[in-house]
Amino acid sequence: MGQTGRWFQTIGTKARISRLSFISLVILALGALAAVASERKPDDLGGGRMKSMRVDGSFDPESNFLDATAQLQFTQPADDRRLWLAEGLQLTSVRSGAAPVLGVQRNSNQFLVPGPSYEELELRYSGRLLPVPDPLEASWGAKGAGAGKPLDDCRFLSYIADFYPHPQTDFAAMKIDLRLPEGWNCLGSGTLNSVSSTPGGNRFSFDNVETKGMSLVCGRFRQIDYIAGAMPVRLHAWAGFRFKRYFSKPDLQRLLSFYIGRFGAPGFTELNILFRRGHNFGGVSYNGLLVLGVDEAWGRIMAKDRKKIEAESPLGMIDAGNDLLAHELAHQWWGGLISWKTAADNWITEGLSTYSMLLYARERRGEKAWQKLRRHLRKWVERYADKGASADGIRLKLQQGDLRAYQALVYVKPALMLAELADRIGEDELCRRLRRFLSERCHSSVGSKDFLDMLSNGDGALRACLEEWIHGRGLPSPTS
Ligand SMILES: [Zn+2]
Repeated sequence: MGQTGRWFQTIGTKARISRLSFISLVILALGALAAVASERKPDDLGGGRMKSMRVDGSFDPESNFLDATAQLQFTQPADDRRLWLAEGLQLTSVRSGAAPVLGVQRNSNQFLVPGPSYEELELRYSGRLLPVPDPLEASWGAKGAGAGKPLDDCRFLSYIADFYPHPQTDFAAMKIDLRLPEGWNCLGSGTLNSVSSTPGGNRFSFDNVETKGMSLVCGRFRQIDYIAGAMPVRLHAWAGFRFKRYFSKPDLQRLLSFYIGRFGAPGFTELNILFRRGHNFGGVSYNGLLVLGVDEAWGRIMAKDRKKIEAESPLGMIDAGNDLLAHELAHQWWGGLISWKTAADNWITEGLSTYSMLLYARERRGEKAWQKLRRHLRKWVERYADKGASADGIRLKLQQGDLRAYQALVYVKPALMLAELADRIGEDELCRRLRRFLSERCHSSVGSKDFLDMLSNGDGALRACLEEWIHGRGLPSPTS
């Protein structure tokens, strides 16, 4: 995720460039959430894991009004259960089985369900959601005319904005059925099982086997293309959007096959990509769904000013469009299959997605370009390396307000560490460790310690070196 305001200003267009991911989006909200989570008692966490969730509701995108019922199941009973729900949504009833639950305490976007021993809760709620910042338009210091005002009519129902009641970071089986007025389409995390006609609109049914959260995107887009194959891809956009101007189908398939070859099967059986018209060039990734913001001038600009982009951003390195796609797609593994535990651990998924993107760049461009890229990225990180450590995570953004520093330290520095590690132990061995970690820790949130333990595999000297990369300031010298 990121934004480099000067890229396109220098060539006289309104477009900016930014990179987002679902991991990154969570981070935007996590400053507050993490503080709350740390106040939880151990028994609160131990008894509070959500096993499954089912939401059935209606949403009017014009008025932002949501009316829904959520059924939550937990692995164990708990004395008190803290759940999150957007402030604009009023709880109209809380039940456990047939019995109403009394004494629910509400405090802004949290509420406390008193115990004892509720393993199942049914919550009815409704209300007008506060306008949710558009993740592709209102991110990272988007200032000035047009900032925050999308050029299309997409509405995001994001789990970090708490559109359903949830206990934060648990992976769980989730289903959402949402009714929308006629003319509105919907994509979301997981599998879209069916679209059925209902009075006045359509009902969209989504299913997630195991996920940390579900998000939906509603809009007046349509499916514009379909790529058949072992892992089919559906492309969605506004009418008349010309996909080929931005990406080629073979490129997309090559990228998908490359990641599957390296990291194993993803968490989806079909990939959806939604192209949005916007001021920003960026993306966001949900399980099985990528949303990419594109400007209509993007294709032309990229070809003309690639060099400028390369010189001005640590992330748009060789081919901004494909780099963005490669970063966001990698989040299907790093973020989708495993996630981070706290805000200080978000370098894991951002670093891995950036490293994955680098691997693909090497595959496409060759060894010489790869080495040049690494030198270029080292210079980027060197500029910011004294500002903080990768494990400072979102605090870097909050404290410094400097997106470039944040990108350099949380995205690029860990990616360089992984590249150095591959030099030392071999890329195949690194890949093997990553795959094993994915299979052992699939559908869970992992912390920095566990991840560094896995990478170092019992080698104490290596562990100390990796520790320095992530928890130290400065940039360690190249080992080779
Ligand atoms: Zn990312």
